[in-house]
Amino acid sequence: MKYDVIVVGAGPAGAMAAKYAAINGARTLLIEEHASIGSPVQCTGLVSTKALLECECSEGNFILSKIRGAFVYSPSGEEVCVRGKDIKAYVIDRKIFDRTLVESAVDKGVNVLMRTRFIGMDAGKISVISNGEKKEIEGNVIIGADGIQSVVGRAAALPKCKKFLSGIQFEAPYIPKDPEYVEIFTGNEIAPGFFGWAVPFSGMARIGLAKDPGLPAIKYLEKLLKHPIVASRYRGGRTEHVVGGIPLGPPQKTATDRVLLVGDAAGQVKPTSGGGVYMGAVCAKIAGEVAAKTSRKEGGLSEYEKKWRNAVGKELEIGMLIHKSIGKLTNDNLNEFVSFLNKPDIRELMTEYGDMDHPSVFMQKLILSGNKMQLIKLFGVAFKTLF
Ligand SMILES: Cc1cc2nc3c(=O)[nH]c(=O)nc-3n(C[C@H](O)[C@H](O)[C@H](O)COP(=O)(O)OP(=O)(O)OC[C@H]3O[C@@H](n4cnc5c(N)ncnc54)[C@H](O)[C@@H]3O)c2cc1C
Repeated sequence: MKYDVIVVGAGPAGAMAAKYAAINGARTLLIEEHASIGSPVQCTGLVSTKALLECECSEGNFILSKIRGAFVYSPSGEEVCVRGKDIKAYVIDRKIFDRTLVESAVDKGVNVLMRTRFIGMDAGKISVISNGEKKEIEGNVIIGADGIQSVVGRAAALPKCKKFLSGIQFEAPYIPKDPEYVEIFTGNEIAPGFFGWAVPFSGMARIGLAKDPGLPAIKYLEKLLKHPIVASRYRGGRTEHVVGGIPLGPPQKTATDRVLLVGDAAGQVKPTSGGGVYMGAVCAKIAGEVAAKTSRKEGGLSEYEKKWRNAVGKELEIGMLIHKSIGKLTNDNLNEFVSFLNKPDIRELMTEYGDMDHPSVFMQKLILSGNKMQLIKLFGVAFKTLF
């Protein structure tokens, strides 16, 4: 077997990268270690309307509900409503969504091998265990879309992401305040360094949190369930447990002369929300195109590094600064910050400029709105250098 481009991992980033390699004329193989696409799920499935556009599938039976905004709760229980003017996001079924993306890649001519695990590589070929048998497959360019643990990244001696959060979640019957609003819970007892959530759909919610590494996430999930707001809406029972890591901060280098990393493997995840589908799709399209060209010796993979950093590098950098600044806040600071966001003029600004994929736009407007000194007092000097 000989391919121009081999993509390892059939998550959203792998499917999009394979599709774009094929569109750009490469004989492309997509391999996946599991027997079923999109399983096990490690996601809340909250994706922006823009993310679906980027994935070139704005509708489908993977959409479970529509989201207009969010209620954010301070540690003391103050609620701020972040109201979108229109539908901002969808709650999706990741299993069906991931399959839809792979089907779309297959339509463009991508070959798919399931139950095929990448185990290593040598000049011009990769080694896999395919349906229990060790095999070698020849390929000019290898795309590592193999998620947070990226075996491809390790095999290519590429550096790791800067930070990893631990996430935990389950699904349960839930009566939300408003089914078109997600609920965000802040506080160092609930989710140190990040936040907890309840994302509603069809009488259920995905209830979970992500946090800095440290004590086991399950301990914090138990506390989240006792949060007065959650406790009043949660109807008991638990299904679909999810435990997973979230990589933040891309490594210095994401490509060698023959291998490139994309999606979670490259830390292309929004540090403010932990969402990776949108950024992964943006970068995967670039990855597929550059890999196809490189396989024909028209340029090299350094073009990928340049192009993806131009597209989303700044947003990820600013996101990381916001993440670090918010992560340092004490509960008192978080109470103060939520009260600040609750001011009518700031709420208007959030409605106008809030963008879950590009939070830097809102932050910039916030700073220009005459609140710079208050923000610097809250977040420290790192904020001075943001814009
Ligand atoms: C608790 C939690 C909640 C989240 N919620 C959201 C959310 O609401 N919205 C959002 O946008 N993002 C969310 N994310 C992040 C999101 O799930 C990831 O960013 C996204 O799945 C990354 O896509 P990917 O294609 O890069 O990697 P993955 O989806 O991880 O896919 C990698 C694929 O590679 C395969 N693979 C791995 N190793 C090998 C190997 N050696 N050989 C062959 N195949 C291999 C895996 O089986 C997998 O199918 C969440 C993450 C967590 C942990």
